[in-house]
Amino acid sequence: MTEAVHLVPILQDNYVFVAVSRDGRAVVVDPGEAREVRDFLRERDLILDAVLITHHHGDHVGGVAELLATTNPLAKVFVPRRDRGRWDFTTDFVDEGDLVETAGFSFRVMALPGHTLDHVAYHEESRGWLFSGDVLFGLGCGRLFEGTPAMMHQSLRRLTALPDATRVFCAHEYTETNLRFLRSLDETRDLSELEQDVRGKRRQGQPTVPLSLEREKRWNPFLGATNIAEFTTLRERRNHF
Ligand SMILES: [Zn+2]
Repeated sequence: MTEAVHLVPILQDNYVFVAVSRDGRAVVVDPGEAREVRDFLRERDLILDAVLITHHHGDHVGGVAELLATTNPLAKVFVPRRDRGRWDFTTDFVDEGDLVETAGFSFRVMALPGHTLDHVAYHEESRGWLFSGDVLFGLGCGRLFEGTPAMMHQSLRRLTALPDATRVFCAHEYTETNLRFLRSLDETRDLSELEQDVRGKRRQGQPTVPLSLEREKRWNPFLGATNIAEFTTLRERRNHF
């Protein structure tokens, strides 16, 4: 079996990620729904080793209980420490700097508050995979439901410090909308390279995820914000876009 991360689309525009090891074990990130993920695992004869949760929103955790019940009830479920007491299915709590070792993968936990206070990302450093939930999106970032602009700005700065070659598995397909927002910020800028790629993929029904972090560093206006005030202004404009 080939080691890979697969995308399972659910709901309107969410992706559930399934990291598959060479020996047929699977790690599922943010299963907001169970059925599609269960079918994916069954069709490929994969064993669910673990579930990783980035934050408490329903479109990221809604399918966990059913997925466990219909695949492997003994799979581990890693949950942010701030979500202590929320769900019965949790087996392990994680926090900044922890290492989650499962199915032969090693995920370093990064606490990245802003979208929510509990939000974490899982970074498989040796493979260059970042499972970033709702912190960073293609050419955009998550809305601030619980955290402050300062928190989100700092969380994004931490992502900017990761290697260019990192592939970002973000949980929503928002790139095309964010590209229109980027265009609205500057009508004269040459975005043809981005526009061809993003629109071409979407026209063919292809995902724009995983994102290239190198490209996000170059084009994502939220990663480009140099201070909290600049970030706040951008986020406000995007909220009303
Ligand atoms: Zn969310």
